[in-house]
Amino acid sequence: MIYNPTKIHFGEQAARQAADDLASLGSRAFIVTGRQSAVQSGALDSVLEVLREKGVSWQIHARIGENPSLEMVLEGAQALNASECDFVVGIGGGSPIDAAKAIALASANDLAESELYRTDLFKRSLPLAAVPTTSGTGSEVTQYSVLTDRSRKRKAGFGSSLAFPALAVCDPRHTLSMGARETLNTGIDALSHLLEGIYSQKREALLYPLIYSGIKAIIRNLEKALAQPGDLAARSEMMRAALYGGLAISSTGTTLQHSLGYPLTSHFGVPHGLSNGIAMRQVMELYSRALRPELDELFHALGMGSQDFYAWLDGLGMKAELDITEEFIAMAVPEVIGSRNMANNPFAVSAEEVAELYRSLP
Ligand code: NAP
Ligand code: FE
Repeated sequence: MIYNPTKIHFGEQAARQAADDLASLGSRAFIVTGRQSAVQSGALDSVLEVLREKGVSWQIHARIGENPSLEMVLEGAQALNASECDFVVGIGGGSPIDAAKAIALASANDLAESELYRTDLFKRSLPLAAVPTTSGTGSEVTQYSVLTDRSRKRKAGFGSSLAFPALAVCDPRHTLSMGARETLNTGIDALSHLLEGIYSQKREALLYPLIYSGIKAIIRNLEKALAQPGDLAARSEMMRAALYGGLAISSTGTTLQHSLGYPLTSHFGVPHGLSNGIAMRQVMELYSRALRPELDELFHALGMGSQDFYAWLDGLGMKAELDITEEFIAMAVPEVIGSRNMANNPFAVSAEEVAELYRSLP
């Protein structure tokens, strides 16, 4: 099944293209951003220019950090309640966009911190526009929000059809300011979503043309964007791939690949995309016993073999500082096994397989 209700504007000047749609969401915007990148990327300016022209007022909440916490969401919801805003705009990477979704839901449903994952309590939300400044999460077109419970050192997501942005405004110029580290990590997150669109037991063959095209775009353009950060054509291809990744997982969900990464982020501070990347080969090898035809078809479409793909991945030089001890494994494995993404695996993955995967990380 495929379902995605987000209206997408894509390309240079996407905010201008989206002007009428943005203004139709309300009369006062609550704009949720991180501390710097919305300004640095030019995305905030693009949005404000359009809102100003349309006579829409706004309030800016520039307080979201990476891997947004439950406290940040609650603080945002309180500011939104006091702001007289009637719609929300999330500008940034996945962190501010995910936070914007949760803030809109927390405010509209009057949720307490302990209720932020209680999707059964979500009855309404405020209209939301998402303006990505990274090419990674695809959050601009998904119903997911990934939050960190700092008191339990735990990262987990929720999915609710009320969290889909009404509008995605994707202008690749807004990603030109990303440094090499963000470009690589977010690009690998997008690659992970595209692969998981095939891995998931909710895989949908109708999405394969998008998935193959997105993976090809990343293989052809990630290193270009790293070598030439100002290469707009490469940035545009990366943004298209990330969007396709979001469209894929909005229907299929993510899998063990993402579940494995969450403890690596909450315990070792590994950036989200990198946490998927360092275990990408191992997950593909584990799944290949159940997905031979799907993977053969993928590599045929890519015009490469799995060994070429692994060599390309190795060439990206992804590295993380990990200290995988048996103590970490004893704590992380139940968290992985209990995470909601595990329901999407192509076969039941055992606790021992998860532990072995962690032990095999470099
Ligand atoms: P991010 O955490 O939003 O941002 C990472 C860093 O990049 C921040 O320092 C940010 O600065 C900076 N940055 C963002 N855009 C920039 C730009 N154009 N120029 C310069 N710097 C820029 O990164 P992300 O990888 O996009 O999002 C990761 C989060 O999304 C994780 O929490 C992950 O779990 C979640 N996620 C969600 C979904 C979903 O479907 N909802 C899917 C996958 C992952 P500022 O702090 O100043 O903004
Ligand atoms: Fe992701």
